[in-house]
Amino acid sequence: MGEGLLMGYCREHFCSRCGYKAVVSGGPDVGMAMSYTLTISCQDCEELHDVGWLEPKFAVEAQGQSTFQWKQLRLRCPKNAAHHWEPYTGQCPVCSAALQINEEGEGYHWD
Ligand SMILES: [Zn+2]
Ligand SMILES: [Zn+2]
Repeated sequence: MGEGLLMGYCREHFCSRCGYKAVVSGGPDVGMAMSYTLTISCQDCEELHDVGWLEPKFAVEAQGQSTFQWKQLRLRCPKNAAHHWEPYTGQCPVCSAALQINEEGEGYHWD
């Protein structure tokens, strides 16, 4: 993939009220193998999770032409499919305060 905008990037998000911390991308992101992830906030786990969202899918047709589409995965909490969650919008999953981003924290680049 090399360098560029398509590389996923996770950053440390932290709550100054309750001390919650998570290293997540914080939004729609493109990572390994060109799959998209989305950050969700699970109300049952009180955790943020990066979950798979879109996945590239190649299909070969009868004429030997290959087509490419994005396959949309069902979004769910990785711990339990029955958990209630919402897309992460910058709030702490524990106490609902606004999370801050630690730019010098343990963020990392996917490679
Ligand atoms: Zn909090
Ligand atoms: Zn959960």
